[in-house]
Amino acid sequence: MENLLGQLFFTQQRLLDEVLHTKRAIYLSMNTVALQQLSIPVTRHCNLNCCGCSSFAPLSPPEFLKQDQFASDMERLSSLLNQNLITLYLMGGEPLLHEELPRFFGIARTFFPHSSIKILTNGILLAWQKALFWEEARKHRIVIEITKYPVRLDFSRMEEKLKTENVKYTIHHQDQPKTLRKDPLNPEGDEFIIDAYMRCTSKRLCSELVDGKLYICSTCANIDLFNLYFGAEFHRSDKDFLDIYDTSLTAEDIYRFVASPVPFCRYCRPSITNLSWKTSKRERSEWI
Ligand code: SF4
Ligand code: SF4
Repeated sequence: MENLLGQLFFTQQRLLDEVLHTKRAIYLSMNTVALQQLSIPVTRHCNLNCCGCSSFAPLSPPEFLKQDQFASDMERLSSLLNQNLITLYLMGGEPLLHEELPRFFGIARTFFPHSSIKILTNGILLAWQKALFWEEARKHRIVIEITKYPVRLDFSRMEEKLKTENVKYTIHHQDQPKTLRKDPLNPEGDEFIIDAYMRCTSKRLCSELVDGKLYICSTCANIDLFNLYFGAEFHRSDKDFLDIYDTSLTAEDIYRFVASPVPFCRYCRPSITNLSWKTSKRERSEWI
């Protein structure tokens, strides 16, 4: 019996290895000539506070990315990737909380002239944007992606405004209510890394840059907010990110890194989807 279980376990691991190999091969083939996607949080706090937010925004103090750091990161990445980035997301937390956001559009466009550049917003502050925001968005071909949360907002008026200003936009969850997904963490950190990575479908290809460090997902990128707020210790090692200012780094290193699991995956339990949307009470249980 023990022998049979051993063989079953061995076969399961072999299958997982095969699938991982295939998954990596697909990601690598997608990333051989360009990085598919990169997110940069220009703020890490938010004005909506969703329960269990995967960026830990409800736990963040007000934090604004400085223009010169953004410019320096853009210049470095542009040179590393030879401008080959498919989509750049300027996001948060909530990016519209950053008063200098319109200035970031031109910087991003200078260094990534051919990329799709998008801002990802909950839309709450769109109606309050000044003329400069719309001018810069048009000039630098910025796409506005709005997630429609179940909050009181006049989305028809918002759409009229977007059309009047002649900017490209997408509204997600127009027809069905936005639900929540919980990505519970395992404080013991004893999940099988490959299993955790394999079942982690929703965050794949969502590499995120924080403080000059490139992470493969927002959980790993922002876990410091959780650690600080709850005094917890979800440990990140130097294998969990790439320092983009490391002079030996190449585009191939980046392509390989974003297509592979990291040690931090050992903290990730299976996600729970389709939960009703509600606001965060900033309780530890929302993320555990
Ligand atoms: S809108 Fe909700 S999910 Fe998005 S960053 Fe804000 S709190 Fe998080
Ligand atoms: S650490 Fe790994 S398993 Fe966890 S969310 Fe990120 S990519 Fe997915």
